[in-house]
Amino acid sequence: MNDMTPNFSQPAYSDTAKKLLDRKPQLFIGGQWVASSDGKTLEVEDPSSGKVIGHIVDASDRDVDRAVAAARAAFDDGRWSGLPPVKREALLRHLADLIEAHADELAELEAIDNGKPVSMARMVDIPGSVNQLRYNAGWATKLAGEQIQPSNAPEGAFFAYTRKEPVGVCAQIVPWNFPLLMAVQKIAPALAAGCTVVLKPAEQTSLTALRLADLVAEAGFPAGVFNLVTGNGETAGDRMVRHPDVDKVAFTGSTEIGKIINRAATDTLKRVTLELGGKSPVIVLPDVDPAQVGPAAANAIFFNSGQVCVAGSRLYAHKDVFDDVVEGLSKAAPGFAPRPSLDPKGRMGPLVSKEQHERVLGYLEAGRRDGASVLVGGDSPSDTGYYVNPTILTDVNPQMSVVREEIFGPVVVVQRFDDLDAVAREANDTPYGLAASVWTRDVSAMHRMAAKLKAGVVWGNVHGGLDPALPFGGFKQSGIGRENGRQGIEGYLETKSVFVKL
Ligand code: ADP
Repeated sequence: MNDMTPNFSQPAYSDTAKKLLDRKPQLFIGGQWVASSDGKTLEVEDPSSGKVIGHIVDASDRDVDRAVAAARAAFDDGRWSGLPPVKREALLRHLADLIEAHADELAELEAIDNGKPVSMARMVDIPGSVNQLRYNAGWATKLAGEQIQPSNAPEGAFFAYTRKEPVGVCAQIVPWNFPLLMAVQKIAPALAAGCTVVLKPAEQTSLTALRLADLVAEAGFPAGVFNLVTGNGETAGDRMVRHPDVDKVAFTGSTEIGKIINRAATDTLKRVTLELGGKSPVIVLPDVDPAQVGPAAANAIFFNSGQVCVAGSRLYAHKDVFDDVVEGLSKAAPGFAPRPSLDPKGRMGPLVSKEQHERVLGYLEAGRRDGASVLVGGDSPSDTGYYVNPTILTDVNPQMSVVREEIFGPVVVVQRFDDLDAVAREANDTPYGLAASVWTRDVSAMHRMAAKLKAGVVWGNVHGGLDPALPFGGFKQSGIGRENGRQGIEGYLETKSVFVKL
């Protein structure tokens, strides 16, 4: 290896991380760490090296049943929903404080497990989790029905009102791209609403969720309110989704699995919230400063190695600025050259797994075969670990799979446009509808585009960034329902009308 060859060896883990990796594979059920019923485990891999670094439980049907029974009992006897709301609020805030106090340790664990740069985990994932808990904690004391005058009865004949009641036991299934953040984003509104939960992190990235369970126990939540099951999606996850004692399923992941889950949840007519895939456009109008937009467009796609449901994976630049924007993007790309996750200077890590690595490289091959040109990247820089270079594809057309399908990797396709209506139509020509960004100083154009784009979130002059107060979710095949904000918490509540004849 000469001095110019980047070294892809993962720096040493801290002693704290080593200790956590050595922990016995267990599940957190009914307020206790318990062994699985059949002792089956799954390997935990570090995607920066491809090495096996630990084991987690691969939960059996019996394990899932046990976790659901614990959540059911904790819901039915009112030990959680019956608490004064201010106590639920206090416990959620306590959990937020504990996550904050363990931020460095959690960030390292997330980086090791998922492959994201430790600095990103520390800056985005961990504070994001804390914010979710603090925001949703406030809702616990603010949930209320309303008094309503029946439309068809004389004034004073009835006293009628609505009650907001927690849905019940929630099965919450989360993906591997922001493991702790996705887990907390699920549990925070559910717990604030008075529901109890069984959480299943992704089999690739369960370490921070296991640590979260420690912190839930330390915070003092009543037993059975939060239960953690690790294991495979098609076994443990499926069991959760079909379980007759589960009232609601909340899922974040791919559209493909979202459809399977939605079907499986139908037999028992569970409430379902799905936050699924996207192929989000970044639309650059001619009045922008390309020197600013180029690097921002790079961040929109290369952040988290493009493994982001809202990743800006289709760049549309107006013909007047196209060359300059693409040049800015190309110049910014090398700044995201992948590094092992514990390299403190890394801005992009490897992909999460071998499977994901093969999938992304497969798309790149298909793109080339279809006639796309690789402007930057297009390959893997190392034989060890799951690295893919930041990649820009040009000469693409709307029929190519690289333009139509969610790649979930650091790959952006760039196209030019000269008419706003036409670009809105092209941007909307996708089964997805999760997010979009519009870049312009023309306020009228911005709001006209915001109205035209079929997406659950439209950003102006920024791409990415969600806030616990703003509803988030997808149009079309990007999902069902909304997370965050009032609508997010409403997803964990049933509305009951009470009608009393006076
Ligand atoms: P990806 O395809 O990006 O790996 P998935 O959508 O497959 O992500 O997985 C997201 C989550 O869904 C993971 O926790 C996974 O275990 C779970 N999962 C996968 N298949 C199923 C299934 N059939 N039923 C329930 N959960 C599943």
